[in-house]
Parts: sequence; structure tokens; C-alpha cells
Amino acid sequence: MTQQQSGVTAIVIPQPTVNGPLHIGHLSGPYLAGDIAARAAKARGERVLALAGVDVHPNYVLTKAEILGEDVEEMVAKYRAQITTAFDLARIGYDAFLDPQDKGYQRAIASMVTELVANGTLPMEEFTLLQCSDCKRTLHHSYVVGKCSVCGSGANGTSCEPCGSLTSAQNLVDPSCARCGGSPRPMVETIPVLHLEDYRERLVAEWMQAELPGRVRAVLEHYLRAPLPDYPIAYPTNWGIELDGQLAGMRVDFPTELGFSYVYGPANALHPDADCLADWVGAWDEMDGVWHFNGMDNTFYFAVLYPAISAAAGVPGVHLLGATVNELYRLEGKKFSTSRNHALWADEFLSTEDPELVRLYLSWDRPDRYESDFTHEGYRAFCEYVRPLLAGRPHAGAAALPAVLATAELERAEQALHLTGFDSALAIRSLMAALTAGTGIDSVAMAALTGRELPPWSRGRS
Ligand SMILES: [Zn+2]
Ligand SMILES: [Zn+2]
Repeated sequence: MTQQQSGVTAIVIPQPTVNGPLHIGHLSGPYLAGDIAARAAKARGERVLALAGVDVHPNYVLTKAEILGEDVEEMVAKYRAQITTAFDLARIGYDAFLDPQDKGYQRAIASMVTELVANGTLPMEEFTLLQCSDCKRTLHHSYVVGKCSVCGSGANGTSCEPCGSLTSAQNLVDPSCARCGGSPRPMVETIPVLHLEDYRERLVAEWMQAELPGRVRAVLEHYLRAPLPDYPIAYPTNWGIELDGQLAGMRVDFPTELGFSYVYGPANALHPDADCLADWVGAWDEMDGVWHFNGMDNTFYFAVLYPAISAAAGVPGVHLLGATVNELYRLEGKKFSTSRNHALWADEFLSTEDPELVRLYLSWDRPDRYESDFTHEGYRAFCEYVRPLLAGRPHAGAAALPAVLATAELERAEQALHLTGFDSALAIRSLMAALTAGTGIDSVAMAALTGRELPPWSRGRS
């Protein structure tokens, strides 16, 4: 049980890519869940550090600006403002904000990579990248498209949405340039490489002790049999944090940047004066590890790459304490789609709706075990039913739950908000049952689910 640990647990609310605003499908997944779990843990007196941020350096950002014909810096500023507005309106709180536009953050990431290359942990090796023979860009992430080598679905070079596998220009079947359709040609470069296979023993030990859903374990099972890939840490491309010295002309791979941000972020929050790899790693003496809230399709990154980066950086303890994952959320029966404008933007929706009801409904309907579906009809019915309960006015004529059962429901709601077995959909159902008996208004479950201030009696409770 995580409760027996004495160090700090970092709860990661993943950094959204600034290539669009957040929609309520995003909120229903890791964003609200991470915030609710952090609030509940704090109310129980546990030492947690909620990390949030934005992700500026995936080349999906530049690709989006090129598609729109907009200046990329202006576009980033616009979406960043919409994302942080959505965080504020949805009451998504955090203790530290990972900001890739902050010079200190950029220097920290670049210096960690540079030092690990210099000391040989990340060896410089000849590595075959692919380049578009027409537009000459290095084919990675949004710039490449092909078929997943595991399940055959169409994918870019990040991960396969249906099966959760790692995809890259190197392992996609029939890769081509996603921008111009050009054919790829090999480009051999000497770049820093992370040999993930070298970290197998540590990774398997982390997987054994971490609290992971079965669906995550199914993805990891593949790597118990298959070799772990060599992973390029930095390479010549036109987007991402720039490096200098021996690594001049290269930029940091963006998932690599995220991996280092989870070493740096908690360390910087605990010790803002730390400013070198040894200091940041040293701060980890106070950390128990990281609990990731994320989509299923990011399994390779949070369960393989980030723990390996933490180990390579020199963090002695485990990285991965556990993960809470979700499936996709649909909107009126169809997948959210920015290009078809089939979306409900979080900042717009929350500007006119009660954030407490939005949080409670998205928890009630959370796509945690299967893809669920937002309908306006369901949302309106939920609001009508729950609004009187929140005001402490159980429905006239409806049978209230007997007090002994209401107490048990409230206990179940609070238990369901522990990191282990986190289930906010169960918590809201139990809380609603308790509310019919007039109990639970002033509870930790209510405060965490709605994002209200915690009841005074719960502060610092241990
Ligand atoms: Zn091209
Ligand atoms: Zn696949």
C-alpha cells in the first residue's frame, strides 16, 4: 500500500500538446482524475506533489501551425492560454507547472542530456534515421505516417492509438512523409542513443512492484519477450530544445524531454536552488516515485521510456509507482475530431457551465474501463438530478438511503479516491447515494470531486 511510504509521490497530470485547446474528452481522462486523486491524497495527509504543464516541443505543434498557415509562436500562445484557462475553470490545481518555454527548464533539460552524453551514459553512435527525399525533413513523430507493425493500424511516429505500441519512422510499415507524401531515405547520423535493453532488469523490477492496470501489463508483456529498442535521444530536426557543444545541430526528442521533466520537475519543486544533475538527482532522496495519469496509448512512454530515463539520470529508487489509465471518450456517439470540428472545447463549455457539475458528470461518465460517450441529454439529466443534492435538498418523495448504508457509501466513495484502485466513477455514485440521505456534503469525497476547498477538519489529517 502506498500509504505506508514516507516520501513524496509525484502525481503527473500529463502536459497537453499546444496544438489545440483541451476538449472535454481530455478532461474526462487524465486531467480531472489526476486533480481529484491529488486533492484526496492531500486531504488524507499524504505527501503528494501534483505536476502539470504544457508540451510545446512535439512537432505536432509546428505541423498544426503550417496547416493553419499561422505564425507558430502566436498559435502556441493562443492554445496555451486556452489550455490554462480550461485548467483554471475546471479547478485543475497543481503544485508545480512544467513550462517548456521557461529558460531555466530548457537549460535543465539540455544540461542533463549533455552531461549524460559526456559521461558515456548516453553513448554517441551511428544511427539510421529517415529523411524525406522531397522536403528533406527528418521523419519523426508528426512528420511520418505508416502502419503499426503490431496491429496494422495507421499511425504517426509516436504510438499506435488502438494497440498502444511504440511507433517510429524506424518500425512503421511503409513509412512516408506525412507532410508531402515523399518517400523516406536513410540518413546515418552520430547521435546520443539510450539502449533500453541495458535497463531491462531495472524496468522489469519496476513493472513487478508498480500498481498497473491489466491493459498496461498486456502492452508490457510484449517487451518481456521482444527486445527493447534503442531509442534516439536527440537528432537533427527543426523543432524541440536545441543543444550545443558536441551536440550542436541536434534537438532533444520530445518524449525524452518529458522523461527528463519528471526528474527535474519534482526536484525543482522541492529544491528550487538545485541547478545541476547531481542536485536534481539528490532531491530524489525525498521522493517515493511517480504516479502517472495518462491515456492507454502512452503506455510505452510512462512505463518504459520515462523509468529508463530516470535510471539513466542516476535516480537510485524507482520511478514508476503506478498508473491510472483511460480509454477514449466519444461525443454524441462519434470520436472527438478537431478537423471535423466535432468537439466540445473545455474553456468554452466551462465558461457557461457550473464547474462542479461538469467535474461530477465527467467523473460519473469517465471512460476508464471502456470508451464512454458524452451526450448533452445525459449531461442535462445529470445536472437536474444532482443540483438539489449538492444544495443539501434530497428529492422530495424519493426514498432516502438508510443512515447505516449512507455511511458505508461515503466510506466507499473516499476509498475509491486512493491512488491504488482509483475509481472516480464509483466515488461519485457512492457519494450521490449518501447525499440522498443528507450525508456527505462536507466530505473529502465531495471536496475532491467538485474541486471545492477541503473541509477545514481534513487539512493535514494523517
Ligand atoms: Zn516530405
Ligand atoms: Zn498498433
